[in-house]
Amino acid sequence: MLCDAHNHLQDEWLDPHREAIVAELRAVGVGAAVVNGTEEADWQAVAALADAHRWVIPSYGLHPWRVAGRTPEWRNRLIACLDRETAAGRPHGIGEIGLDRWKKPYDFADQQAVFLAQLAVAAERNLPASIHCLEAWGALEELLHRHPVPARGFLLHAYGGPLELVERFAARGAYFSFNGYFLHERKAARREVFRQVPAGRLLIETDAPAMPPPAALTRYSLPPAPDGTALHHPASLADVYPELAARRGIGEDALVRLVAENFQRLFGADPLRGNQLPAGGLPWNRCPS
Ligand SMILES: [Zn+2]
Repeated sequence: MLCDAHNHLQDEWLDPHREAIVAELRAVGVGAAVVNGTEEADWQAVAALADAHRWVIPSYGLHPWRVAGRTPEWRNRLIACLDRETAAGRPHGIGEIGLDRWKKPYDFADQQAVFLAQLAVAAERNLPASIHCLEAWGALEELLHRHPVPARGFLLHAYGGPLELVERFAARGAYFSFNGYFLHERKAARREVFRQVPAGRLLIETDAPAMPPPAALTRYSLPPAPDGTALHHPASLADVYPELAARRGIGEDALVRLVAENFQRLFGADPLRGNQLPAGGLPWNRCPS
């Protein structure tokens, strides 16, 4: 069973393709996927996917690109989504949250405040936090060391930080996920980090529909988004696993097993059994808003 530690299956760009994508994910053996919300407006869609599919682990958060668009009610809404998952006894997480000084304009003080507010909830509830970081690694490292973090750990998704920080992040509880985008020729530095991350902290993700792998590596493709952006079909995971295993110098089966164990430890969901939704489903089918 393959695990996707980070995607955005709820993304509206996937609306015309989602049904086919879901069938292909199952066909290639994806056994668990963490679906990350990015703003209040998409949390209901994340909840609906988790209700519909036992292999979906819902994660709710405000992405650093979306902090400016939040409503005054955002924190209450986040808590309501988490409470609903807690009541259902379903594994869930907080994310995508993070820091970003790459996409301009940004208000870094505001980003940090929103990040810390969400990290605090993750720490209080011991929920896996899925963290995005671009061009803010020093600031992130400092915040993670100065503030409580979830005892179970947290994910640095699409890890693009320096190799030198891996040990410090790992000591604080970090897991590191990598995706097929790092198989593009120019991403050699990322592949070297992938090779050296501690085995017990390694995860694989897609970040679909973002970060498509090189087209030559995968059988799965989607037409571009309406604005021309290339879209990433998350079933490419099946073609990316053997490539990444080769870069790590281990067999594909060994990588599948290793990632499944790490996934279960961090996200609390058994990839062989899905998200363990109670028989009969949830008493209500939407994330309160
Ligand atoms: Zn993401």
